[in-house]
Parts: sequence; C-alpha cells; structure tokens
Amino acid sequence: MTLRLRIPRSIRLRGAIYRVRTSRSLNRLETMATFDEKSRTITLAHGLSLRQREEAFLHEVLHAVFPNGVVPSKVEESVVEGLDEPLLEALRQLRWRRADGK
Ligand SMILES: [Zn+2]
Repeated sequence: MTLRLRIPRSIRLRGAIYRVRTSRSLNRLETMATFDEKSRTITLAHGLSLRQREEAFLHEVLHAVFPNGVVPSKVEESVVEGLDEPLLEALRQLRWRRADGK
C-alpha cells in the first residue's frame, strides 16, 4: 500500500493561513509549483502526477516555513530542494494517531 499525502485546501504555517490552489496557467514542465508569501498562496500546476503534487506541495511548504532571513535567500532554494524528498520519505513512515487515544 502506498500512502499519499492528502493535499489540503489551506494550511496553517507559523500562525498564518496559506491557501493551496491548482492552476492551469503554470506550465508544469517549467514550474511545478509556486509559493507567494504576500498573498499567502501555494499554487500547484495542473496535471501533475500524485507524486509530483505531494513533492511540490511539501517543497512550497518548506519555503513557507522558513521565516525571512533564517536561511539566506540565495541558498534557500538549495536547502529546500535538499530537504523536500527526505522529509517526505520520513513523513511516509510515520503513523499518526489521535492524542486522545481514540
Ligand atoms: Zn523552491
């Protein structure tokens, strides 16, 4: 059984709500996803495979969780690229349960 992330319509990160949307105007061959801090929006290209969607989503989440200046912007892309796949691999291995024991 392969587990897949359920991509939410919005996600709260660092106390702010970010909208998650899919757009046909992004060319998935060039850019699978974008993150815009100003509008607090993660945009995924239309037509991605499930695996591409979850990787792209997690990649943009990582951009969103780095507050400005924590990682110098010049290296942020390579840091995020280095983290997205291993983090997804780690998340896939986790089993979540309710804190109330139900
Ligand atoms: Zn990126």
